[in-house]
Amino acid sequence: VPLIETRALQKRYDNAVTALADLTVTIEPGVVGLVGVNGAGKSTLIKLALGLLEPTGGSIRVLDLDPVRDAEKVRARVGYMPEHDCLPPDMIAAEFVTHMARISGLPAAMARDRASETLRHVGLYEERYRRIGGYSTGMKQRVKLAQALVHDPELLLLDEPTNGLDPAGRRAMLDLVHRIGTEFGISVVVCSHLLGEIERICTSLVAIDAGRLLRSATLDSMTQVR
Ligand code: ADP
Ligand code: ADP
Repeated sequence: VPLIETRALQKRYDNAVTALADLTVTIEPGVVGLVGVNGAGKSTLIKLALGLLEPTGGSIRVLDLDPVRDAEKVRARVGYMPEHDCLPPDMIAAEFVTHMARISGLPAAMARDRASETLRHVGLYEERYRRIGGYSTGMKQRVKLAQALVHDPELLLLDEPTNGLDPAGRRAMLDLVHRIGTEFGISVVVCSHLLGEIERICTSLVAIDAGRLLRSATLDSMTQVR
């Protein structure tokens, strides 16, 4: 089944901003880059996919589920890394990721094990008992990734995961995302306003602009036209 399927999807905020105007797109499994300039509607699409927002028109399905009606099922099968800081600075990283695993329904012992394992996957195993507030920006981004990954989702939605990182950190984060997609067999939708930066790790790209589909293509066909 497609990761995300939308038909004439519309989202108009209360302030009359139309973030998604009329979006019809089918996003197939893989590592998918969702690209567009700031304000194009990428975050809005991700929030609709998670059931955090409701469409004002049209429809959206995620893993063939309705994100609003089947919100619990969607959140059990999808991991989300928000763009902005969502981390409690005074918590120990291992405790926070365990807590997020518990929220996703894992029993206590399993949540602890999965948290350690996931922090190892993102390269924070040695530092897992430190306070998040003492982490560098790159480490904080990796904790955000770990909390999205801890319940072993089928699909990861990553909103600008390289935000705030220096060039080396950006490369390392994208390499990590690529490894998660290929080695763990998890599908990834990664938002970015920098096509040039993410295309190397993607199997396909979906470009949106002003809340509409600009182009959707596998990377081979897209590089041929560029
Ligand atoms: P992107 O993620 O591509 O930068 P967004 O989905 O965040 O785009 O935003 C799309 C448009 O919707 C922008 O014009 C933004 O200012 C507006 N927007 C986003 N969130 C809200 C909100 N909660 N209320 C009102 N307008 C919003
Ligand atoms: P994001 O793209 O991750 O939503 P933003 O920086 O665009 O991040 O927005 C930060 C917060 O403010 C989000 O909750 C977003 O929904 C909200 N927001 C964004 N644009 C507007 C806007 N024009 N009016 C009101 N709220 C907005």
